[in-house]
Amino acid sequence: MTIGKIIDGKAFAATLRDTVGEGVAGFVEATGRKPGLAVVLVGEDPASSVYVRSKGKMTVAAGMESFEFKRPDSIGEEDLLDLIEELNHDERVDGILVQLPLPGHIDEAAVIGAIDPAKDVDGFHVVNSGKLATGQEALVPCTPLGCIMLLKDELGDLSGLEAVVVGRSNIVGKPMAALLLAESCTVTIAHSRTRDLASVVHRADIVVAAVGRAEMVKGEWIKPGATVIDVGINRVADTEDGKSRIVGDVATAEALAHVRAITPVPGGVGPMTIAVLLRNTLVAAHARAGLAKPA
Ligand code: NDP
Repeated sequence: MTIGKIIDGKAFAATLRDTVGEGVAGFVEATGRKPGLAVVLVGEDPASSVYVRSKGKMTVAAGMESFEFKRPDSIGEEDLLDLIEELNHDERVDGILVQLPLPGHIDEAAVIGAIDPAKDVDGFHVVNSGKLATGQEALVPCTPLGCIMLLKDELGDLSGLEAVVVGRSNIVGKPMAALLLAESCTVTIAHSRTRDLASVVHRADIVVAAVGRAEMVKGEWIKPGATVIDVGINRVADTEDGKSRIVGDVATAEALAHVRAITPVPGGVGPMTIAVLLRNTLVAAHARAGLAKPA
């Protein structure tokens, strides 16, 4: 039985961070200042705190300026919008990221909508999603952009390939589909109402699973030789040692017998997200400084 390749997202992300670091050095030389990323964290959610800390460290490691703004759960929407407005006008800040989810009393769409689209390094603002949908230069959501980078690295030209994206969220599924379409794939978006998901997935040369259901996509659903990108992050109880572990949306062990290549969880798409965030910040900094987009 042949076994597919495991795509090393960790190594790819490390190379991307190095490239960003070189781009940052060039930016500093050209402008005399460092690109800056502001991260806003509301509340004390432990997972979000860990994520924000790690973003801060990697931002600094890439040679950029990191600004963290921690606010209590109790912050009012107006105060949060005032902070965003301040950051929009702060010349040192090229990228603004508001860590989601926000507490229930705050309208997430209003907060994202308040970010200057030129500084929207998460790519969630409707101006950026609209530009992506219409094929214009945009700041693109980090996770799907990381997925397309891995796919192009593995497959080269994606033109004409059948791609199935499972999941239609605004942050992963929809932008992922737009990026695949821009690469001239024939794209199907599947979701919770899709009938006979197994046969839809079986058509695909490229499968992107972004559902949030542990190992839902079975190995036998995968067309032989397909490339699979597993975006899911699901914590499951490990019955053997009583601890929990992280698994993706794809039953990787089964799928390995069918795929050409697959991203593992952890170590696949996950590490790409922060690396692409740094890249987006560098891209935003270049655009704001009137410089050409970095390579
Ligand atoms: P959402 O919950 O926003 O969206 C999930 C999507 O999956 C929805 O479109 C939903 O369909 C669809 N879905 C749910 N159940 C089924 C089913 N049984 N069959 C087919 N489709 C189904 O999730 P996100 O897009 O935010 O995230 C998806 C996963 O990716 C999560 O595990 C998340 O943790 C992970 N993630 C990982 C990141 C990374 O850095 N690696 C970054 C972001 C997310 P419907 O719309 O019909 O409800």
